[in-house]
Amino acid sequence: MALIVQKYGGTSVADLERVRNVAQRVIETKNQGNDVVVVVSAMAGETDKLLTLAHEATSMPDERELDVLLATGEQASSALLAIVLQSMGSPVKSFLGHQIKIGTDSAYGKARITSVDADTIFSELREGRIVVVAGFQGEDEAGNITTLGRGGSDTTAVAIAAALKADLCEIYTDVDGVFTANPAICERAHKINRISYDEMLEMASLGAKVLQTRSVEFAKKFGVPIHVRSSFHAGKGTIVCEEESAMEEVVVSGVTYDVNQARIEIAQVPDRPGIAARFFDAISTANILVDMIIQTTSLEEGFANMAFTISKADFPQALAVAQSLAKELEAREVIAEDEVAKISMIGVGMRGHSGVASKMFGVLAKEGINIKMISTSEIKISCIIDAKYTELAVRALHNAFELDKRNG
Ligand code: ASP
Ligand code: MG
Repeated sequence: MALIVQKYGGTSVADLERVRNVAQRVIETKNQGNDVVVVVSAMAGETDKLLTLAHEATSMPDERELDVLLATGEQASSALLAIVLQSMGSPVKSFLGHQIKIGTDSAYGKARITSVDADTIFSELREGRIVVVAGFQGEDEAGNITTLGRGGSDTTAVAIAAALKADLCEIYTDVDGVFTANPAICERAHKINRISYDEMLEMASLGAKVLQTRSVEFAKKFGVPIHVRSSFHAGKGTIVCEEESAMEEVVVSGVTYDVNQARIEIAQVPDRPGIAARFFDAISTANILVDMIIQTTSLEEGFANMAFTISKADFPQALAVAQSLAKELEAREVIAEDEVAKISMIGVGMRGHSGVASKMFGVLAKEGINIKMISTSEIKISCIIDAKYTELAVRALHNAFELDKRNG
């Protein structure tokens, strides 16, 4: 007998028929002798609908009230699943985040889980009940309802699995698992059987939409194995787990893209100590997260060029900061573009293999795609390119690195 946490995403609970499907699967898992805790997302489209409503009401809805509103999506789906399970004869109780309770900080809209009270869940399980928990939400110290950021139900599930020391956390979704590239734009994309936490972390933060990045951080920290799989059939999906020696043999595990990127360059800033500090201090004071930074200096002229990337949402604000600073520092000009994408190749095998970067640049060059910025870490290489070449770049890299033949 095992303790299993299952999470079902929005498309898996999109209507009553699908909720019945989910209930069936939950009952099967329970009948195999397992204790089952189920975490659900809001029904597909529900969170977007609530967000739109709030933004129709006012351009800047209050963050606290917005979280109260958004949390209702998961309140509805969790109660509905419990009702369906009961109608099928299963003892079950649903709980909202604050009832469990899932403690968070007070960063509305992107709250971090700080504690999970396992007692309530354990006592329900001891009574033989299935426990359904509303994903995506928690409660801060002052008792306010908070939400965990888009895709946050994944993190609820992993955090609960960690707190309960569950044997497995299954993430049920509308795709078959984690792929070497997004199958929607790359038809030769190949399902990965096993992937390490570190690779999954990079993939999630570099654009793969299948798991919320924070859920992978949590899983890694507490050693929770995740099985990402389809809720529409019984086939095995992808196991996200501790790195295994065979994983090092695969040089590149996947290629991801993120079109939610913008790039700003300040050309010809006077090259003096403290300029970068001044600039990025102003950016961080504005609460903007900077991703890549490149500074080049030309000694002869005494100027530096500074370029950085941010998410599209922060573009207008970052541009305003850049323009005002450029003026003050008498830089030559600010060059800004928001039609850029970040293409990344990820693989723990890169640690032991050289030549991945040069091959990647060669493939892009052959397609006539200009690289605007490059950044690397031990297990990934990212390039900023024109957004219009995104699909071409993903397919060309996927082909050149033969990711469709990836083993494991
Ligand atoms: N319903 C929330 C969202 O759409 C949380 C989730 O689905 O995980 O982002
Ligand atoms: Mg999701």
